[in-house]
Amino acid sequence: MTPLEFDQKHLWHPYTNVEKPGPTFIAKEAEGVWITLDDGTRLIDAMSSWWCMLHGHRNPTITQAIHDQLDRLPHVMFGGMAHDPAIELGQKLLEITPPSLQRIFYCDSGSVSVEVAMKMAVQYQHAVGHPGRSQFVTTRSGYHGDTWKAMSVCDPVTGMHHLFQGALSIQHFVPQPPIAIDQEWPEDPALNGIAELRAVLEEYHKQIAAFILEPVVQGTGGMYFYHPEYLNQARALCDEFGVLLIFDEIATGFGRTGRLFATDHTDIEPDILCMGKALTGGHISFATTMTNDRVAQGIGNGEPGVFMHGPTFMANPLACVAAKASLDLLDQTDWQANVTRIETALNEQLAAARDLPNVADVRVLGAIGVIEMDHRVSADQAHALAHDMGVFLRPFGHNIYCMPPFITSDDELSAICDGMLRLAREL
Ligand code: PMP
Repeated sequence: MTPLEFDQKHLWHPYTNVEKPGPTFIAKEAEGVWITLDDGTRLIDAMSSWWCMLHGHRNPTITQAIHDQLDRLPHVMFGGMAHDPAIELGQKLLEITPPSLQRIFYCDSGSVSVEVAMKMAVQYQHAVGHPGRSQFVTTRSGYHGDTWKAMSVCDPVTGMHHLFQGALSIQHFVPQPPIAIDQEWPEDPALNGIAELRAVLEEYHKQIAAFILEPVVQGTGGMYFYHPEYLNQARALCDEFGVLLIFDEIATGFGRTGRLFATDHTDIEPDILCMGKALTGGHISFATTMTNDRVAQGIGNGEPGVFMHGPTFMANPLACVAAKASLDLLDQTDWQANVTRIETALNEQLAAARDLPNVADVRVLGAIGVIEMDHRVSADQAHALAHDMGVFLRPFGHNIYCMPPFITSDDELSAICDGMLRLAREL
């Protein structure tokens, strides 16, 4: 059995049929934007390996930090112990996140950070005398992860809620924020989506702990960029109805949208903020959930007085040093200039897709480029063309998209755009 045959027979891949696995490459090594396959082929990672590989693969500063930490303290339990990597990362996070978010919970992955956020919200409401507030409101077309509570606030159709009926908690859905980021914001609540949010909060606020959503960019739910004013007004509504506001910045954090956080496109701060993916520059799984004093103290002063969560690998030192190194790199490099350069190239070069048949829309925000087709696009067919294009793209739903590492050169960006245009022509 070849290694690939073993993989196809025994290893489950994301969102695949284990009996009929899709086409798969074997990656041997990676450096910068390039992934090298077992046959020596080199592919540009236009996906930043599912949006996390901010500074490119195998960044020497990040790998060195992990190596050094590996020789000192690869792991220690966080119950009753603290360590410099967790403290130094915490200091750094407080510098760069909204000032009200002073309390940090380290966890393992994006989905877990969403679980933690939702649990914080419910425990807070319980602690401050609202035990009935245990449900959530969210937007249609959202995505927050694949664990149970996170899944309950994913879009009911793309998240296949019908399949898990009875097993998922009941939540409240409002329409996708209707005004796109580049449209003028209409003040009429009936047009800007705020009326629907108000209606749900008015009717159900006594059962709702928090409003959870991805700020500005809906990722997996459709790569859609909406107007930040929606979030400003949602904040006011949440305050009016005693509902917490949770921002899931797992996909948008660390410069991807052109601001350090998507929250920075707004005038407000959430009560709870989730981040993951690019937190470690993509080098090791890690996430955090940050909250404000109000929530932390509310939980602390209520029953049972402790926050009921504590994963084994909480604040793993290897992950903490990787995250600190990645954030220091962001400080030291002109990431904003790089994201603007990428945004300009994507805008210029993807514009040609507008003239192609079957293209529904072309949109760019920061280092995110999307060609939306009027039909579903096959990731397997894109995979088959990757060798030829020298570019690894993995479309989903109707969207052919890229999220390149910030270090992607102009030539590499052109290769990515050519690849996306080819997929738009051929798939
Ligand atoms: N929230 C958002 C917005 C995401 O994009 C993702 C992952 N695509 C998640 C949560 C889940 O993160 P993870 O896959 O690390 O569990």
